Amino acid sequence: VAAMADLLADHEHGGRRLVDDLPRPDSADPRAIRSVGVIGGGTAGYLTALALRAKRPWLDVTLVESPSMPIIGVGEATTPSMVPFLHHYLGVDPAELYERVRPTWKMGIRFDWGANPDGFMAPFDWNANSVGILGSLREQGDINAFTLQSLYMRADRVPVFRLGDRYATLLDRLPYAYHLDNERFVRYLTELAERRGVRHVQARLADVVKSADDWIDHVRTTDGETLEFDFWVDCTGFRSMLLGKALGTPFTSYADSLFCDSAVTGNVDHGGVLKPYTTATTMNAGWRWTIPTPESDHLGYVFASGALSDEEAAAELARSAPGVTEPRFVRFRVGRHHEAWRGNVMGVGNSYAFVEPLESSGLMMITLEILALVSSLPASWSEPCARDVVNQALAQKWDAMRWFLTLHYRFNDRLDTPFWRDARERSDVSGLRPLLDAFATGAPLRFRDAVTRGFLESAAPTFYGLEGVDCLLLGQKVPTRLLPATEPHEAWRRRKAGADALVRQGVGQREALDAFAADPALHAAILDDPGSWVSASGTDRLVRN
Ligand code: FAD
Repeated sequence: VAAMADLLADHEHGGRRLVDDLPRPDSADPRAIRSVGVIGGGTAGYLTALALRAKRPWLDVTLVESPSMPIIGVGEATTPSMVPFLHHYLGVDPAELYERVRPTWKMGIRFDWGANPDGFMAPFDWNANSVGILGSLREQGDINAFTLQSLYMRADRVPVFRLGDRYATLLDRLPYAYHLDNERFVRYLTELAERRGVRHVQARLADVVKSADDWIDHVRTTDGETLEFDFWVDCTGFRSMLLGKALGTPFTSYADSLFCDSAVTGNVDHGGVLKPYTTATTMNAGWRWTIPTPESDHLGYVFASGALSDEEAAAELARSAPGVTEPRFVRFRVGRHHEAWRGNVMGVGNSYAFVEPLESSGLMMITLEILALVSSLPASWSEPCARDVVNQALAQKWDAMRWFLTLHYRFNDRLDTPFWRDARERSDVSGLRPLLDAFATGAPLRFRDAVTRGFLESAAPTFYGLEGVDCLLLGQKVPTRLLPATEPHEAWRRRKAGADALVRQGVGQREALDAFAADPALHAAILDDPGSWVSASGTDRLVRN
């Protein structure tokens, strides 16, 4: 049997090929790609430049940004893939990141949303169903006790435990993400890029000169300088100077599904309490995020300018959070360009695509785009290039995210304002229609038989799998026929009691962060332990969100 098993194993598959075997340019090749110009100095620009230097250190990477054109300056909640991306892919030292950027932990999103007065939890361990979604619905009428992490979120605690004068953590078993203060994060990335050999040019692009329809030859800056690179990464944000303006890549809007196009932001005192999650609260013409930073809660009311003026939005934000600082307004557009990569230009970040931040997808999608670029860039223009794979894969990911977000709008019956009535009636969910029909006939979808699940997965793009759809639809109490339990009720209650006992042992986030600052070995327990969710699946975790 052992010999047979050995015969059937895949001996050639190294498992690490995603980043290990990147092609180097030949020194004699006149068409080799040796220089890359990253245009734009927001999170997209800096993360791209750092990734290129980390994985293709032979490239000469220049980042160009205009001091007179500010970065978008928001984008603080992330998803778990950011943790391995920063620490394993880019090699960012955790102790340094914690000291300089002062992130807080995010266990998931708490939605003040839907019919349930308590809303629902979308914890990052939603795949695990560790306590049980059917038992939670049966015993307490909502999904809020379906995983261990949702119980931590409800208790405002984190899985870090005091053991005498030491601390231990379960964060290596429960996926978490960072809340990153945008200003501190970009400042830190700027310094890191300098340390890692990224050339920095402060200049504003005035003219883009093409040598063919999809090929940029050089650019001229407003100071009269000419810049030339073998490859260009457009990180100019919504201006999309290269991919959109210069190459004229068509744009597909998602505005039929997602009506919001503006945000008003501010900060409010949190009285020292650091909630270990992002909160999304339903508002009259959209929703409001609450993101904890060590000093204060960062708030943002995402709204539809067609339904509310800036002044009305600022006033509603102030009413919902007395004491909030002066409002700051941000405009955005939702949708994607037909292609991320055309000719010798790839768009990364808002220059290529954007959806509003309801699932904190901005930085996650940027990291996916970067992975695609770093692993697919050829060593030379004389070699074949997998542009189409990158374009199709990224387009599918973005479209799947659009449909997933739309589920939040179509079914949220928390408020009966004109905006929400309109959203419930008109937001286009056609991309997920087959899945919604199947949901009505029996849920959770994750417990449907294997054949049905297989068909569902190929019939509709779900982004976070059937489990993500279950969480969202059952959390909002969308009507369905619940599948019967397969265990005695007592079994669920025992599991829940065990989970509650573990949650009671957890400390508050502030105490836990102080413990990590005092003992950096705690980081290693999470990041380097082979059994940890961060390292176990290696690069695989990066592409699975
Ligand atoms: P920008 O930050 O806009 O940077 C553009 C850069 O291009 C600037 O440096 C500018 O100087 C430069 N530039 C532009 N034109 C020129 C020119 N002609 N010459 C030279 N330089 C030029 N993401 C999350 O992950 N989580 C969140 O919680 C989240 N919340 C968000 C909330 C809102 C309201 C919005 C709008 C976005 C949010 N995002 C979030 C998304 C996130 O902010 C962005 O995706 C991310 O910051 C990337 O921005 P960027 O680097 O593409 O563009």
